Amino acid sequence: PVEIAAGVAGAPVALPTDIPMSTPPATPPPSASTPPQHGNFLSNFLSSNPYFTAGFGLMGLGVGLAAARQILVRGSNMLYRQLLVDLEIPSKDKSYAWFLEWMARESVAVSSLTKSESAKGLKNRFLALRNLYSSSHHLSVQTTYKQHDNGSVSANFSLVPGPGKHILRYRGTYIQVNRERSGRLMDLTSGTPFETITLTTLYRDRGVFRTLLQEANSMALKMQEGKTVMYVSWGPEWRPFGQPRRKRSLQSVILDRGVSERICVDVKDFLHSGKWYADRGIPYRRGYLLYGPPGSGKSSFIQALAGDLDYNICILNLSEQNLTDDRLNHLMNHIPERSILLLEDIDAAFNKREQSDESGYKLSGVTFSGLLNALDGVTSSEERIIFMTTNHPEKLDPALIRPGRVDVRELIDNASEYQIRNMFLRFYEGADGLSEKFVTKVIELGVPVSTAQLQGLFVYNKNAPEKALEMVSYLKSP
Ligand code: ADP
Repeated sequence: PVEIAAGVAGAPVALPTDIPMSTPPATPPPSASTPPQHGNFLSNFLSSNPYFTAGFGLMGLGVGLAAARQILVRGSNMLYRQLLVDLEIPSKDKSYAWFLEWMARESVAVSSLTKSESAKGLKNRFLALRNLYSSSHHLSVQTTYKQHDNGSVSANFSLVPGPGKHILRYRGTYIQVNRERSGRLMDLTSGTPFETITLTTLYRDRGVFRTLLQEANSMALKMQEGKTVMYVSWGPEWRPFGQPRRKRSLQSVILDRGVSERICVDVKDFLHSGKWYADRGIPYRRGYLLYGPPGSGKSSFIQALAGDLDYNICILNLSEQNLTDDRLNHLMNHIPERSILLLEDIDAAFNKREQSDESGYKLSGVTFSGLLNALDGVTSSEERIIFMTTNHPEKLDPALIRPGRVDVRELIDNASEYQIRNMFLRFYEGADGLSEKFVTKVIELGVPVSTAQLQGLFVYNKNAPEKALEMVSYLKSP
């Protein structure tokens, strides 16, 4: 044994005999399996370097903050889901137009929140809320045209809140209205961008949506009350044309004795015969053809009849350029409920017909066989009333007016003696004595006079039956 004097002199320390004395005791020999001990050096370096320590600290703080932000975002999203409720109204939906109309009326209670304002945060929100009873600052205009009976057209502007955010207060509840345009998507039928209105309110107040929509709906219906809506085809769908027209009373259209009553009885009987048709498996539709010279009251009568039945009118112009067989078929099968389909001047489409190779007569864009198919193929289980008018029945193809397609034909002719008298009395109430003189004078003219001409004369001599009598000779000139 080797004795080394260490520490205290004289105190012998025994060393293991298998350690060679030449090997330094502190550092083991480097080998391939054990990595060199740079780590210690690095950690020593990093922990002793103040810059790195601060960096790690900052990084930790950043990660912590990011996590906190995530939690906050998720938390607020969750809160949003829990506390708020959204209602989306796409522009495709019927209630969209109702809602805009309703909002335009309520605009006194609407305040606008533009993007920059909302970015400025709560303060502006509060200001916007405080300004609730000032009108919206971001409006868009909707122009509608109204065609009057005399043919004149007037424009009607209604202001509706434009795209952006608006706050409105309804029945004590604050509702945020976000009107958003989809940038790229366009409604090709109308050329307008698709839009969505999102209403947001507190979850507990969600019931207000239903009330609001019902109110908007009943307001829209009220505007139509006592009115007849005229629909025209717009691409593949029916769209209201202008503002609903005031209903025309049946008594104001004076047809020859019994004609009006006959048609009315027939239509009403048809409308009560749904079961009869269903039991026999026959398509539930009825076609009427009113023919006669222009200005005899065909269109006016159909409008008055629709008003009497509380129906609307869908006018289809067969000469329309871009009407195809498919579109015609689609339109005829998707007529808004409680509507009369009116094919006006049906002969006009035939005048332009040309023989085409396979499909028979070719109308503007519709083939004659396409029209017949569309008339026959109306599959709707709902009743279908189809009215056709023409000034030239002789030009109509017999295939079009055979029973099943046209069930009732009525001549609406120039004014008869009966009509002349009744129209005179309708304009000049109580002028019974003059009416007979007037009738005799008109008959003596020896030319057919249309009811539209008579109306013109009476309107010109409003409240002056004697003058009308004097001017009878004017009816002779076309
Ligand atoms: P049609 O469709 O037969 O060409 P309209 O119905 O368009 O005729 O009538 C044109 C105008 O003449 C309308 O303003 C209408 O009020 C008036 N009119 C024509 N016939 C009558 C009638 N029989 N009774 C009352 N007004 C009529």
